[in-house]
Amino acid sequence: MQDYDAIIVGAGFSGAVMAEQLASELDWQILVLEQRDHVAGNCHDGKTRDGITIHHYGPHLFHTSKQRVWEYLSRFSEWKPYHHKVLAEVDGCRIPLPFNLNSLRMVFPADRALELERKLLESYGKDSRVSILTLREAGDPDLLEVADWIYNRVFVNYTARQWGVDPEDISPDVLGRVPVVLSHDDRYFQDVYQAIPLSGYTRMIESMLDHPNITVQTNQQALSRFELVDGNGIRFDGRPFEGSLIYTGMLDELFGYCHGELPYRSLKFEFETLDYPYFQSNTTVNYPNESTFTRITEFKHILQEHSDRTVIVTEYPQEYDRQDQRKNIPYYPVFTAENQRRYDRYRSLATAYPQLTALGRLAEYRYLNMDDAVDNALSAADKLITGVRAGC
Ligand code: UDP
Repeated sequence: MQDYDAIIVGAGFSGAVMAEQLASELDWQILVLEQRDHVAGNCHDGKTRDGITIHHYGPHLFHTSKQRVWEYLSRFSEWKPYHHKVLAEVDGCRIPLPFNLNSLRMVFPADRALELERKLLESYGKDSRVSILTLREAGDPDLLEVADWIYNRVFVNYTARQWGVDPEDISPDVLGRVPVVLSHDDRYFQDVYQAIPLSGYTRMIESMLDHPNITVQTNQQALSRFELVDGNGIRFDGRPFEGSLIYTGMLDELFGYCHGELPYRSLKFEFETLDYPYFQSNTTVNYPNESTFTRITEFKHILQEHSDRTVIVTEYPQEYDRQDQRKNIPYYPVFTAENQRRYDRYRSLATAYPQLTALGRLAEYRYLNMDDAVDNALSAADKLITGVRAGC
């Protein structure tokens, strides 16, 4: 077997950035082990027979304000500018989400909406982005009325369904991702750069991995090839392995679930091809209340593709169960204080292996957007590269 300087488990954004950086900056030989039959992790996409680009693990809309992430990824793909817009169906009416001043005018009578708008702007300032949890702490009864309206109709049921726990138990950061926006900007994100890789995420990640020093093996059960020798080094394919191990999978699995399973949330995606050109007016419509699903996305809006047919995906949140093939994809860590404590115990086990870097949404048990994953991986690569160059 060839000697590798680093073995990377997982070929999503985190693994691909690490592979590319270590191969190009250190001239290392890299082996990437991917358990699926394709690279690109949950960003994996492809075109249907009708020429519509679909995202196989749910819609991925790239946005960032991080200049270095934008510049880095731009080396591997061209972009098509795209500003994501979401409507939420509430009481039979479709309102812009995040809830903003346009939404306010749609759901309150005109005079009342103006009065509430004035109070919101006085309290928080024009263009500010206020977490619904902050708004719920407002002292003013009018502001509380708005907060309750939004919380009860947009957040409570969606969040309970999405996470399977009481909304009060989930980290405030989760709801903070969709703030109340005090402007008329209907876009879902306000980042400086908002665009989709023109030839798709898969092509972008393939091009990151396309380096003579990088070997990618798909359909690999990496953990059956590794052994962590009780704080005493790592064995790979039955031999001591002295190189770096970059692990982007679940930390509980890496350590044999010795502290119990970390909870994750899974999703069921129902794809449908429809025999007419359009299903809805914009990419995503959320259904916060009555339905068993949370949202429907129509893909052709994203790259403005033309076809007589259309493809939609409906998302049903579901529990994660690693024994059940229909439920065994861990889409999200479940962000409660108790789960974080359990994760920290795994994290401290990892410190016994200086060769090991645990990276990415699963291994770090964090809610990372794509740009965060790339940014973290760039920082982790920098750290490793600097250490190697300094001879440590
Ligand atoms: N959320 C909600 N209602 C909505 C949209 C979002 O309650 O209509 C809450 C929900 O808890 C969700 C979180 O805000 O998990 C973050 O939403 P985001 O759209 O960022 O979720 P993602 O696209 O990452 O699944």
